[in-house]
Amino acid sequence: MNNLTISFIIPSYNEAENIANVCKAIHHEMNRHYYGFEIIFIDDGSTDETMEEIRKVIFAYPEARYLSFTRNFGKESAILAGLQHAKGHAVIMMDADLQHPTSMIPELLKGFEEGYDQVIAKRNRKGDSPVRSALSKSFYRFVNKAVDVQLTDGEGDFRLLNRKAVNALLQLSEGNRFSKGLYSWIGLEQKTISYENVAREEGATKWSFSKLLNYGIDGIVSFNNKPLRLCFYMGSFALSLALLYICITFFQISKHGVDVPGYFTTISAVLFLGGIQLLSLGIIGEYIGRIYNETKKRPHFLIKQTNIEQSIVEEREK
Ligand code: UDP
Ligand code: MG
Repeated sequence: MNNLTISFIIPSYNEAENIANVCKAIHHEMNRHYYGFEIIFIDDGSTDETMEEIRKVIFAYPEARYLSFTRNFGKESAILAGLQHAKGHAVIMMDADLQHPTSMIPELLKGFEEGYDQVIAKRNRKGDSPVRSALSKSFYRFVNKAVDVQLTDGEGDFRLLNRKAVNALLQLSEGNRFSKGLYSWIGLEQKTISYENVAREEGATKWSFSKLLNYGIDGIVSFNNKPLRLCFYMGSFALSLALLYICITFFQISKHGVDVPGYFTTISAVLFLGGIQLLSLGIIGEYIGRIYNETKKRPHFLIKQTNIEQSIVEEREK
């Protein structure tokens, strides 16, 4: 055993069937390495037996820890809570559903030993529904044009971060967290390894279409002001068209007089401008909403119960 420890962070929302399996799999893998480790389960306000299952593994494995939230705060908050409470020299984030294969742990650790700050496990999209992978692909293509940080398809939360990277992430205190962007924003030395996509072990995905759509909007709006600029361009374009149209019509009327009442043109102009205005208002609203949320400075989560000593976290926050 060397004296380095690895903290595993497992956000869990209604994952009762998976808790014991994931704990066993990590344990099995880590027993072959010379590291100390801890496994932190974050119960994100589950409504099933997740908490009972976590209690069982805590009893069975001395390395297991847990935090439970007072309600469902979302995966981003669960990850943040895990990072704040992790004591290890490095952190590995994994999903509870075993979609992040534990067989990748040796390679992640290898990257850590080589001195990388972030070791990213990138997955291919084999087995994903064609609609979802097509949507994701076009999302990343669009986002990378619009956003100031670089996001890559298949690179998600499954990664190892060393202490330096964890501390960098903890310094970013924004209320609306979009992890994928934050990992990219902190930069540091990165290594990417890839793995085959696997299907979920038990239960169903927590991502509905509307959750994915919201996630996409977060990704675009969190990292730049380009959508606001887009409003400006669209507005200018519409205004120039309108001016041109007014000039031409005025010229024609003064020459030939009024012929047909311009119902069609009027209505199309109203619709066009109305559309642009609503879109722009929506985009501005997105930003104002975010400003409003940030000014409230609410905590990202509330902890109901934990078996991790709080003093360590408070010490770190000072
Ligand atoms: N998760 C969470 N809070 C939520 C939704 C999901 O902690 O509100 C956890 C979930 O338990 C799982 C991980 O985040 O461990 C990934 O969720 P899921 O498997 O549903 O996402 P997918 O793999 O389909 O992208
Ligand atoms: Mg999953």
